[in-house]
Amino acid sequence: MPNPLTSRQLYLRLLRYVRPYARPFTIGIVAMIGLALTEPAIPAILKPLLDTGFIEKNIDSIHHLLLLMVLLFLARGIANIVSGIAIGWVAGRVVLDLRKDMFERLLVLPASYYDHHPTGNIISKVTFNVTQVTNAATKTLTVLVKDSFTVLGLLAYAIYLNWQLTLAIFLAFPPIMLTVRAFSRRMRRFSLAFQNTLGDMTHVLEETAKAHKVIKVFGAQQRERDRFHVVANRVRQFQYKVIVAGSANVPVVEFITAVLFSGIVYVGTRQAVENELSVGGLVAFFAAIGLMTSPIKRLTNTSQPLQKGLAAAEIIFDLVDEPAEPDKGAHDLESANGDLTFEGVWFRYNESADDTLQDVSFQVPRGTTLALVGPSGSGKTTIAGLLPRFYEPYRGRILLDGIDISALSLSALRRQISYLGQDVVLFNDSVRVNIAYGMDPLPDDDRIIAAARAANAWEFIEQMPQGLDTLIGENGVRLSGGQRQRLAIARAILKDAPVLILDEATSALDTKSEQLVQQALERVRQGRTTLVIAHRLSTIENADRLLVIDKGHVVESGTHAELVNAGGAYAALYHGQLGGTGEPGEPVA
Ligand code: ADP
Repeated sequence: MPNPLTSRQLYLRLLRYVRPYARPFTIGIVAMIGLALTEPAIPAILKPLLDTGFIEKNIDSIHHLLLLMVLLFLARGIANIVSGIAIGWVAGRVVLDLRKDMFERLLVLPASYYDHHPTGNIISKVTFNVTQVTNAATKTLTVLVKDSFTVLGLLAYAIYLNWQLTLAIFLAFPPIMLTVRAFSRRMRRFSLAFQNTLGDMTHVLEETAKAHKVIKVFGAQQRERDRFHVVANRVRQFQYKVIVAGSANVPVVEFITAVLFSGIVYVGTRQAVENELSVGGLVAFFAAIGLMTSPIKRLTNTSQPLQKGLAAAEIIFDLVDEPAEPDKGAHDLESANGDLTFEGVWFRYNESADDTLQDVSFQVPRGTTLALVGPSGSGKTTIAGLLPRFYEPYRGRILLDGIDISALSLSALRRQISYLGQDVVLFNDSVRVNIAYGMDPLPDDDRIIAAARAANAWEFIEQMPQGLDTLIGENGVRLSGGQRQRLAIARAILKDAPVLILDEATSALDTKSEQLVQQALERVRQGRTTLVIAHRLSTIENADRLLVIDKGHVVESGTHAELVNAGGAYAALYHGQLGGTGEPGEPVA
């Protein structure tokens, strides 16, 4: 795991994402500042409007001032739109760039990353956390720039109007702020506790609903009733506290504000009496102070969204910084012959775990099939996973054509391998693209059709409304299990790799479909070095060799006949599993 990034590093990295869009970003910021600095103009127009217009009844001056007001709001409106659009555009670009970087990383992360991170978690990083960052950043930026300039401008104007009153108000400000803060902290504590107790109640409910039979049979209704009453009552208590704290909040603040207001009016009217302050001046002063309150409130509350945004940024950069699959091998290999050797391979999924494979050695000469047999959890899938280097052994070597596969580049190695898994992965695209998956440019239709024919897939593709162009997936046709398997086989045939890993499907197909799949599998195995994780007797009997695995050890190896005659583990598995039926296709593993 990389070291956690400090807030400073997070800011700098985010800023690096903004840098390519410096120009629109600057335009946005300038517009924001413009918007902020014109805010004092509102009370500044209000003052002469009242003094010369209403008090001195000077109509001309009213007309001029009103025109000025309209123009002012026109300019502010334009600035507002420009800043919103510019910053929004930059935020959208940053989201896109972050998402691209994250997706880029997802493509090269080692299999172990996916083992330890639930898919939902990964998805939410790319969808949700990214927008959380930009939302927080946009919001914080807007507040820091616009609101701080607004406050500065208004403050300067208020001081210009009457510095004594301004000073008085700013002395009174901290107590209001502290009161508000104390209230909201209390609120937050209670709402958190309320959430938690709600969780406890849900938990009890869930248990009761799930365990209703056990509760009834063991006569534990009274115990559950008591338990529920306790948690439900705790929910009520905290909810009540939230209401109490919330209902006191506004009146208390309003009361303090009213006292403050009266004080100002008192001082203001005394100054007015002494002709030091005009009516317009007093109103403009109140307007300036009033306009300041919201931005100040926002400025003091920036830390919460900021922390949330930083936490999300950390999640994102953690993913972007995850080390990629090791790909140090520089050796290229155009097309292997397919001689495969495992030499004393030891493997564990993580350093603290036990060995999953211990001293596994075997050879598969080119073009032959080796079936891996053994109980579930013995390590068959693990052996197959080491071949494309989804995982790396910590001791021993795996050789392809006599070359240690860790000396090959990942792309050279994986070019040699086709994989047919239990779950057929089809993408939401045309049949053509699904068969020629990963091939760029797409091969001629003739080749695709030939592969489909060999996989017994052409017959049903031909029947489809748009043939090879038919879309598979949500908007396209629904395929049966056997059809999906045959498409996957066509994909492997078209890839024409010398090595094939085959994790046989365990779920049964109907006989006809089964035959078509088996026939296609025979064809795809032709001339390829094949490693089968075998579940079917027919495959096992037809394999050139069998490797019996138990708890990560190779316990036996030989042909089917040899192993049955030897009367060891395989013979026991064979006889035990088959019972009396002896049906081919009976699952063995
Ligand atoms: P098989 O294919 O023979 O059923 P596997 O190779 O899937 O067996 O599993 C061998 C052992 O390794 C099992 O104990 C399994 O729990 C463990 N294992 C398999 N995959 C992982 C993984 N991705 N991370 C950690 N342990 C795993």
